[in-house]
Amino acid sequence: MSIKTIINYSPNFYSKKRKINQIKFIIFHYTGMKKESEAINKLKNIKSQVSCHYLIKNNGKIITMVPNSYIAWHAGISAWNNFKFLNKNSIGVEISNPGHNFKYRDFSKQQIQSILRLSKFLIKKFKIEKKNILGHSDIAPVRKKDPGEKFPWQYLSKKQVGLWHTLSNSFLKQKRMQEINQISKKYFYNNLLKIGYSLKNPKNIKKDRFLIFVVKAFQRRFRQELINGIIDEECLMISNNLAKKLK
Ligand SMILES: [Zn+2]
Repeated sequence: MSIKTIINYSPNFYSKKRKINQIKFIIFHYTGMKKESEAINKLKNIKSQVSCHYLIKNNGKIITMVPNSYIAWHAGISAWNNFKFLNKNSIGVEISNPGHNFKYRDFSKQQIQSILRLSKFLIKKFKIEKKNILGHSDIAPVRKKDPGEKFPWQYLSKKQVGLWHTLSNSFLKQKRMQEINQISKKYFYNNLLKIGYSLKNPKNIKKDRFLIFVVKAFQRRFRQELINGIIDEECLMISNNLAKKLK
């Protein structure tokens, strides 16, 4: 079982090999730089201290930058369920896209097909669960927005890659921006915990401000039409639906 990639190694990884059964997550990123070549140079520069296992170019070609059996440096300070600092437990996949700071754009058809192919390969190889296929913003919501609200989570879920809800768009649209009460908000946060989001604020940020970042991360992932940090009826419904699946 293998996948066709271009080898272009980064020096940024721990020299000690990890056990294959430590690999439990796929984390998606966008490169967030104006030019693709700049992004590749950064990921190869020893001074940058960042890397990934795979980079998917604009034309869909996949570069291997760190072999799976080594820990790449892509997640940073991060948390999901009972996991912290997810580098050691994950495969990091960078997708070329200028990101929110430089004209964030749709991922190309070729990129999406490669994301799918690579994910299928990794899921099979490491027996990765659907609920453990995540975006960087899910595990580091204050610091990160990638891969962002243009990432095709719904499409991927139809192909068995990652989690999605089973509610119809027309139903959900009626619930958008409908206010909910405090008790419902508690239910929403409880659902987030079940999905895996960490609700523990870091010391340098107050709880209420932190939670807005978490809500935005949830929206970038599961309610991509409106990212406003406000929990409405639509967010609640989606979270209920997802949490039920994870029981
Ligand atoms: Zn990232």
